[in-house]
Amino acid sequence: MKRTIAIQVGAISFIDEGVEQVLDTFQEKAGINALFLATHTFDRGTGGRQIEGFPFPDHGVQEYDRDFQGGNFAETRREFYRNTFIRDFRAPGWDTAGRDIIADVLPEAKKRGIDVYCWINENPYAPISRYIPNFALVSEIDPWGRRTGTPCFNNPDYRNWHLSLIEDYTKSYGISGIAWASERQGPLGNLIGGGWNTRGIGCFCDHCRRLAAERGIDVERARTAYRELSRFFTEARKGERPRDGYFVTFWRLLLTFPEILAWEKFWTDGLHAMFAEIYGTVKAIDEKTKVGWHVMHLNSFSPFYRAEQDYAELAEYSDFIKVVTYHNCAGGRFQRFIGSLHESIFRDAEPEESYRLIYRFLGIDEAEWSELPRAGFSAEYVARETKRALEGVDGRCEIWPGIDIDIPSGRGMTLDISDGTEGTPDGRDESPKDVEGAVVAAFEAGAQGVVLSRKYSEMRLKNLEGVGSALERLQTG
Ligand SMILES: [Zn+2]
Repeated sequence: MKRTIAIQVGAISFIDEGVEQVLDTFQEKAGINALFLATHTFDRGTGGRQIEGFPFPDHGVQEYDRDFQGGNFAETRREFYRNTFIRDFRAPGWDTAGRDIIADVLPEAKKRGIDVYCWINENPYAPISRYIPNFALVSEIDPWGRRTGTPCFNNPDYRNWHLSLIEDYTKSYGISGIAWASERQGPLGNLIGGGWNTRGIGCFCDHCRRLAAERGIDVERARTAYRELSRFFTEARKGERPRDGYFVTFWRLLLTFPEILAWEKFWTDGLHAMFAEIYGTVKAIDEKTKVGWHVMHLNSFSPFYRAEQDYAELAEYSDFIKVVTYHNCAGGRFQRFIGSLHESIFRDAEPEESYRLIYRFLGIDEAEWSELPRAGFSAEYVARETKRALEGVDGRCEIWPGIDIDIPSGRGMTLDISDGTEGTPDGRDESPKDVEGAVVAAFEAGAQGVVLSRKYSEMRLKNLEGVGSALERLQTG
């Protein structure tokens, strides 16, 4: 069976270093046979060079791309975008050097037997509303009636925009597949916070109100509920302790307003309906083009978020799932999430008292609390998450764990990752052995592929070579 060795790479790397040179490096150092080419992203974390404050790796242009904007790094063909008003979203010239990155990379990749996946990052971490004309019209509406900075999956213009983009990519080039990522969660998750949360609490737009009413959810009670819940979280974060304590008061709100959980589920179902629609659209055009998803890192840390990610259900509309198992940066990220719980619903206790309980809930067994940013998570974690996903999908789709190569990590991680920055340079320094261990663990657990993450422009070459060593080790047994 062919093992997929994919790497996430932005247009900037091919522009800075040259198509042939980058592909040579990929093949020689890491046996790479697939690209997750960041063709559509507004997120510097996947589309740009190294993020500010962190040292540059030993390749590429050594200058921060502070003016990164992002957008579509390929040509936008007007005929595909008739059913959406969003048509003007090409990444600007300073990001693309005027090039169509798919047309630039695909012929050379094909010649070498390397598959090209269009890696589409739906992340609203950048202020897209600033770049795309009228974008605010597709944004979510919060319980006070305010527009937010994040788009609504139930808005037809937004939905059709992504379906149009996917049709454009699928029909125009001969790509191997679509890899689609959305690092977003529902309104309850956004309030719980801890990273991967956006500011907006939604969505109560006309489309959502109608769909929710069809489900029998009382929309006005849901709005009231989320205003109350939002007030609870704001006061809790200020340390204003309710008479009966933080957790009991939170639970009482859930009992008083069953609409809280109903609306959270409604939001997540909207995202998964988007997955299903994208999958069907691609298959209607070409059965052979593969479709898969990125399941974000929060899935490793939050029992609440994990409960909403059912692999058995995802398998219904997936050819592959990239399960994020970034072990090296996991320690700091886990602390960030647990720390956030202790600023609100768990505020009556300390993180040191709860983290082992969360370990048990999630089947994790990693370092002591104080050691976590320096220790990271182990290769065993990669193996466990891989196995859990494989059991979940039960052979109906492939599992390609995301492997951490030099993702910024550390203490003092900011709670707001909206500008694509996170961590501090005092985090864990990754070694080639760490990378090798994670890749071996993924394959020995039964993975059909791996996705080297988060982007080539932040990876050091010696750590990329760790992938090559892993493949040798696996071959010789
Ligand atoms: Zn909406």
